[in-house]
Amino acid sequence: MDNPNGELNPGWALDDVYRRLPGHFYTTQPAERVGEEPILVHASASAAALIDLGPGAFRHPDFAGVFSGHVPMAGFPPFASVYAGHQFGVFVNQLGDGRALTIAQLTNAKGERWDVQLKGAGRTPYSRFADGRAVLRSSIREYLCSEAIAALGIPTTRAMAVIASREGVQREVVEPGAVVTRLAPSFIRFGHFEFFHHRGQTDDVKRLADHVIETYFPELAAREDRYAAWFGEVVARTADLMAAWQAVGFAHGVMNTDNMSILGLTIDYGPFGFLDAYEPGFICNHSDEAGRYAFERQPGIGLWNLQALASALTSLVPVETLRAVLEGYAGVFREAMVTRFRAKLGLSGAEAGDAMLVNTLLKAMAKGGADYTLTFRGLSRVDEEEAAWLGLFGAGAEDARGWLEAYRARLGEDDPVARRVRMNAVNPKYVLRNWVAETAIRAVEDRGDVGTLDRIFRAVTAPFDEHPEAEEFAAPPPPQLCGLEVSCSS
Ligand code: AMP
Ligand code: MG
Repeated sequence: MDNPNGELNPGWALDDVYRRLPGHFYTTQPAERVGEEPILVHASASAAALIDLGPGAFRHPDFAGVFSGHVPMAGFPPFASVYAGHQFGVFVNQLGDGRALTIAQLTNAKGERWDVQLKGAGRTPYSRFADGRAVLRSSIREYLCSEAIAALGIPTTRAMAVIASREGVQREVVEPGAVVTRLAPSFIRFGHFEFFHHRGQTDDVKRLADHVIETYFPELAAREDRYAAWFGEVVARTADLMAAWQAVGFAHGVMNTDNMSILGLTIDYGPFGFLDAYEPGFICNHSDEAGRYAFERQPGIGLWNLQALASALTSLVPVETLRAVLEGYAGVFREAMVTRFRAKLGLSGAEAGDAMLVNTLLKAMAKGGADYTLTFRGLSRVDEEEAAWLGLFGAGAEDARGWLEAYRARLGEDDPVARRVRMNAVNPKYVLRNWVAETAIRAVEDRGDVGTLDRIFRAVTAPFDEHPEAEEFAAPPPPQLCGLEVSCSS
């Protein structure tokens, strides 16, 4: 909805649903208000539109204040929720919104539910020993990647704004601090269920499951097998999400169960990474020495995390049923993968050899470290630019040449023009490569240059289009920005 007056509240129906749960599910508390007046760094018009705010709202004198926690949201005292989770395979019995505060739960003009959450707005009872803050660098990363993943058509929490505070945050050195304003229908995680289950509070597990089903899966609420049906839905969404990540070369980096959304959204962007050169064992998180969350392991970890969720639901659903539902994961994942990769290759119809064709290509890519994004994007022009395309494969070029023969045989007499259009609508030209995110961060931090951030934002949020003014950001990392390390210290 357009909002030319820049009014900040376009008449949302605030609906405080989470706080209908008992008081030990959350803590109500104001944001901490760090430093002087906060500064809006960048905002996403398409995210703002989800809560009926037009771009005029960004110029409202209170926009940065309200959406960083400096100015309270009328009619909604903020809250933080408690959860637990398996971190790198180890159960931690109390985590929670340690630096996140929900400042609104609302229904937009279309009747869709949205929660508005601040990340980095101060300490909560769940902060443990940490400071409740986020640094500007990681906030820009989360902001850009949330919006990039959404533009790729992958389920995700959204980021409406990144807002800098005027006070430094102590990490290895003092860094500029910031708040990300996130939106999602719900931020409930697998770990919320694990928290109550592992304390033996099975009534609370049931309350939470009822809340989730009634609020977010109302179509299942009347079913007798509602809990099993709902778990089946979470399994299917998670399997599909894992396939979606694989198809664009996205590695989350910290797939702990407290970072797994009950709605199947990509959530909590930390040391994530997009593949440059294809390397199945790619580890994007410098702190993940054993490679638990390596690129090729993510689908398996998705299942591991669902098993942890299943354990937390044993008071609601018989174990044999949970097991049977989990057995469906592999099939949904495989089907989602082959469907997505058929589309990436521009294949029409389904043939028995398609999965093999995809695997052979991936093998050739891995052999010489072909750039993941450029290989698929370039495939739609391979007839015109065969030498350049084969050049992406390095040591795998001969294998790629052999593969092309099989590929052309599979394409048959398909209309090449229509195929190119289809392929370019699923193979992005721009993904948020690590070096690109780093370029945006350095521009803002070192030079106060928001223009570069804006150029990158426009490219990664319309990733299937051409952007002549941002052409450089479609490329693999330049040598001086190769192998940047990203860890959890954010
Ligand atoms: P993460 O792995 O970043 O998703 O964080 C795991 C847990 O640590 C969550 O409960 C976070 O809320 C909490 N946490 C991470 N960083 C901070 C911080 N700077 N201040 C307070 N809590 C934090
Ligand atoms: Mg987290």
